[in-house]
Amino acid sequence: MSDPADSLASFYAHALLIEREAAERYEELADAMDEHHNAAVAKLFRRLAGLEAEHARDLERRSAGLALPQIAPWDYRWDGFEPPETSPHEDVHYRMTPHHALKIALANELRAVAFFQGVAVRTSDPEVRALASTFVGEEEEHVGYVNDALAREVPPPPDWALDLDPPRPPD
Ligand code: ZN
Repeated sequence: MSDPADSLASFYAHALLIEREAAERYEELADAMDEHHNAAVAKLFRRLAGLEAEHARDLERRSAGLALPQIAPWDYRWDGFEPPETSPHEDVHYRMTPHHALKIALANELRAVAFFQGVAVRTSDPEVRALASTFVGEEEEHVGYVNDALAREVPPPPDWALDLDPPRPPD
């Protein structure tokens, strides 16, 4: 598989998958938050969907005319979005509280930051480095938005079926 740090075309191919995946997942998370009547978190997810879609469009413009390598999309799917034994989608949405949704978003934003940081450090192509560094900054902003929203959400009770946090021992 081609390394995103190797060439501009490879970088574009990877970054496009990441940004398109993020835009799609945020739309779905926003729909799930509508079902929970949490307008504030739904609005944040719609805004983030828009920002990631903007990234994708920017990458499409920049890479127009370049032959992009084929990348395995399964490496770029969001962690924790669906359980491995894929239960029906509606069920996942129904049970996903704002707290869980924000945790999933945070984990995946941090993954995006780490991806672009890794490329920026590894690459010897100045154009790839400059672009990857720009994306690091923007994805870090997204981490900040999600963290701010998480600080405002009350976590669900520890016996919640989909709780992603491991139980902590009492102090
Ligand atoms: Zn992002």
